[in-house]
Amino acid sequence: MKFEWSGILLLLLVVPAAAFQAGASKRDVTPPLDRPVFIAGFGNNRTATGVHDPIWVRCLVVSDGKTNVAFVGVDLIGLFYEPDVVAIRQQVQKLAKKPITVLIASTHNHEGPDTLGLWGPTPFQTGRDEKYMAWLREQIAQCVVEALERLEPATLVLAKDNRKELADLQLDSRLPHVKDHTLCVLQAVSKRTGRTIGTLVNWANHPEVLGSKNRLLSSDFCWALYERLEDLLGGVAVFWNGAIGGLISPLGEELKVRDPVTGQPAPEASFRKAELIGRFVAEVAAEAVKSKQAIRLDKGSLRVLLKPLFVPLQNPRFRIAAATKVINRPVYTKGKLDTRVGETKLTLDGTTISAKIVLGEDIRSEVGVVAIYSAESKQPVALFLLIPGEIYPELVYGGITRYPGADFLNAPFEPVLMDYAKKTGAKFVFVVGLANDEIGYIIPQCEWDEQPPWLNNAPERPYGEVNSVGWKAARVINEGIVALLKALTR
Ligand SMILES: [Zn+2]
Repeated sequence: MKFEWSGILLLLLVVPAAAFQAGASKRDVTPPLDRPVFIAGFGNNRTATGVHDPIWVRCLVVSDGKTNVAFVGVDLIGLFYEPDVVAIRQQVQKLAKKPITVLIASTHNHEGPDTLGLWGPTPFQTGRDEKYMAWLREQIAQCVVEALERLEPATLVLAKDNRKELADLQLDSRLPHVKDHTLCVLQAVSKRTGRTIGTLVNWANHPEVLGSKNRLLSSDFCWALYERLEDLLGGVAVFWNGAIGGLISPLGEELKVRDPVTGQPAPEASFRKAELIGRFVAEVAAEAVKSKQAIRLDKGSLRVLLKPLFVPLQNPRFRIAAATKVINRPVYTKGKLDTRVGETKLTLDGTTISAKIVLGEDIRSEVGVVAIYSAESKQPVALFLLIPGEIYPELVYGGITRYPGADFLNAPFEPVLMDYAKKTGAKFVFVVGLANDEIGYIIPQCEWDEQPPWLNNAPERPYGEVNSVGWKAARVINEGIVALLKALTR
């Protein structure tokens, strides 16, 4: 009798663990070329003349029997939390037979359609096609529901690799030179067939190998990554980007990728260079899941914490774009929707102009954390940090630096995410950029530089601020994620 009671007590103390399940799906969401398609990522008015390879939505759903989570990757420059991610989640809940948390990260593809609006015919005309956007949201929602309906018993495999060759594919164009080249993988393998259901690869780099001259729609290096990974492992390959701010990129003559066929470097901005990078990343990922260090979980649990938050919209360019509907995104003041537009004088690049801007102060965004637990441990095996933009790596890994010339030289440092992620004991930390939003660059305040003299006595202004919502974003985002990490360990 005594023995039975202690058995029940033990059951109550142990974290409930159930058998994992997984399902996957993908859909071709290439926009039709029967009307102009503006390619996002470089200058205005780059219209598509054809398709090299499809634009995809790719989804891996993982479940512990109670919590269902969709890991969705899309070959887009970005998707706004509002209106798009929120609308997709609503559509999924309407179509799905059970509740599911939908997490959508754009790969930040620079060779796909303009889904944010910034790359239209001129800076004053949107490049976003609302008809395509409505169809796209529907396709993403259906892809998630399809993956959810395919759930089957699965083993989760967690792995990582940080060989030097991965770092050789990342240029870093802004001080401080902080970057992380670790590749993390989550693979789901069917317990029935032993086949791969889906594989999520997480690595940091701008999908912009093809550069600004290319006119063919493509997912850039992701196309070769998907093809090679699906050849090697089967199932559906998904790519989630990492901390790519400040600026982590494979673009440029100085980054050479040797072509084993010719023995020469692949031509700059070529499909061949993109292909070689994508294939290599896929091969590293496939090796990682087969390595002895990979962790296999049949049972365990999932936890997802999401936190909506308001981020100050400081950048006058974005405030003008929102007022002229180049950007289609609601703004708020003190938590309330604010549709006011007003004429104001502002200084851009040293010139004072009169412009129509939105008067609202904030945009609504979201941060999140996903934790995967084994049946045995109270510490997560894997963590996903969901960051809604292109974060400067020093805000994640440490190394924020004060340079002479900065606009806020003495600003306090923001909390560094890895300091808190490590405290959870997680063996794998997936740093996810452009998760559920794309607010642009997330820059440490003390490195912010819009006013001369320029950072570290440089002759020119640094690149980054022009594509950031402002210097207040980093603190809001990092404090938001740190609060979630603390909640996880409580
Ligand atoms: Zn970027």
